[in-house]
Amino acid sequence: MTRNILILGGDGIGPETVAEAEKVLGALVSRFGLDVAVDHALVGGAAIDVIGMPLPEETLDKALASDAVLFGAIGGPKWDGIDRALRPERGLLALRSKLGLFANLRPVTAHPALAQASTMKPEVIAGLNIMIVRELTGGIYFGEPRGFVTSANGVREGFNTLRYNVTEIERIARVAFEIAATRRCQVCSVDKANVLEVSELWREVVESVARSYPAITLRHMYVDNAAMQLVRDPKQFDVIVTDNMFGDILSDLASMLGGSIGMLPSASLDAHGRGLYEPIHGSAPDIAGRDLANPLAAILSLAMLLRHSLREHGWAEQVEQAVGAVLDAGLRTADIAGSGGRRIGTREMGDAVVRELLAQAGK
Ligand code: NAD
Repeated sequence: MTRNILILGGDGIGPETVAEAEKVLGALVSRFGLDVAVDHALVGGAAIDVIGMPLPEETLDKALASDAVLFGAIGGPKWDGIDRALRPERGLLALRSKLGLFANLRPVTAHPALAQASTMKPEVIAGLNIMIVRELTGGIYFGEPRGFVTSANGVREGFNTLRYNVTEIERIARVAFEIAATRRCQVCSVDKANVLEVSELWREVVESVARSYPAITLRHMYVDNAAMQLVRDPKQFDVIVTDNMFGDILSDLASMLGGSIGMLPSASLDAHGRGLYEPIHGSAPDIAGRDLANPLAAILSLAMLLRHSLREHGWAEQVEQAVGAVLDAGLRTADIAGSGGRRIGTREMGDAVVRELLAQAGK
């Protein structure tokens, strides 16, 4: 059965980096017979320029009809001055919400060849492999009521509401346990149960879900300790599951353990396996259009797409291995060049991954 993939390049380096991922996908289709159909559409500033809105109806319809979306990046100074409701970022937020993408997956790995590129000591991060599972559509970022009030004595107050229901916690916990079962079988649930009632419920529900996964070891950690442990000894973690705000902060902290922002993919999944896959970096207007961007985060996002939405685990691994081999061979875009390796551009990096993929399969 043909699976449909929608590619949304977006703005800045988005189209450049996603084009390299598309090259890799093209090789899987033309050389290995992977049965997928690819379509493209506009999003972000590129869509504002042509259609006047960041998420055109046609793009949303195509996304809803697809099995997975591969997304580049959006935004840039050109659109910074326009009405907030029409900014490029709104396109991505609307897409996430219309697709019901409640689980955000961020793998954090430190390829041994790049251990020197991190601000951390190489021995602390070499071989690091963490998966952060963040709840994406609930919690304090969405809780009602929210707003501003002015008290009787004239002092202004801002307020937000942190709430989670059992169903929301159960479904994100299940995602974490299912992923842990394919990895090292350890889940660390991060909360603030010593202070927050919501976290008390979170802990209770995660424990009840854990009873269906006897092979997985579950532990709980307070978020302040988790932040410290991620810096002190990050290799102690396999899968971390946490709420929207804690996950937002911890995943950004963790993303820097591995080195360049140009290396890190992410996935956002709905309840049925459809997902949106994107590098964690933005549109990098400072280097856009100069063949300087690292396309590996986009290529690794494609690997996640193959694994989580198409269930093509073998091809996902092959793509990841090809990326590893290219790094082992010393090929480097500017952001990961450090002091060694051979410096190449965006397109050459994409070509090298395709070449490696073909070589692995003896083609
Ligand atoms: P950014 O991630 O675009 O860039 C930060 C720095 O990292 C820049 O110096 C950039 O050159 C570098 N960088 C990023 N990706 C790289 C890559 N693949 N290879 C090499 N270097 C890379 O973040 P920013 O500068 O804060 O934001 C720029 C624009 O992107 C803004 O308009 C912002 O709103 C938007 N943004 C979009 C997303 C998204 O689409 N999901 C995420 C973050 C920021």
